[in-house]
Amino acid sequence: MPDQHKESKRETVKQISAGGVLFRESGGRIEIALIATRGGIVWGLPKGLVEEGENIARTAHREVEEETGLTGNIIKKIDSIHYWYSRKEEGRVTHYFKIVYFFLMKLTGGDTARHDHEVDEVRWFPIEEALKKATYPGEQNIIRKAGELLRKQKETPGSY
Ligand code: ATP
Repeated sequence: MPDQHKESKRETVKQISAGGVLFRESGGRIEIALIATRGGIVWGLPKGLVEEGENIARTAHREVEEETGLTGNIIKKIDSIHYWYSRKEEGRVTHYFKIVYFFLMKLTGGDTARHDHEVDEVRWFPIEEALKKATYPGEQNIIRKAGELLRKQKETPGSY
């Protein structure tokens, strides 16, 4: 098959996802929830695709609950990240451009035993450890920003 023809079969799809940095205060220190996927190799923040009719805040609530088994209240929007990835489906390569919006969320309840079957583990980490554990630099940045927001909030008692 000529290269030109192959080229014409390429497709680019834009995806919008949302997720959360879910935190709790434990013994006076803040911890955030990370999930392990792909056989426990990849550690990251809970997130997923925005479904039809959903706003990004609703998606973040739903995905955090589905992936971790835990519920949370949104405190603030943190920031967004974007990345490219490709998938080969039936011989065709599709290029995906994904934007993920992340929210700072305070734990309200739930049970990690109810996490999604595609998630290998849900674990709480202090921010500094989560920064080292998170696989993707984009998510490390989001965790760093969440840490800064939490430090600022701490200076205003009763703000979260
Ligand atoms: P969903 O869209 O439901 O969240 P998915 O597995 O289809 O799940 P991603 O988690 O975005 O989608 O994974 C798609 C590809 O992007 C994988 O190759 C993954 O390794 C990569 N990926 C996932 N998160 C990031 C990230 N924060 N930065 C860079 N690449 C990522």
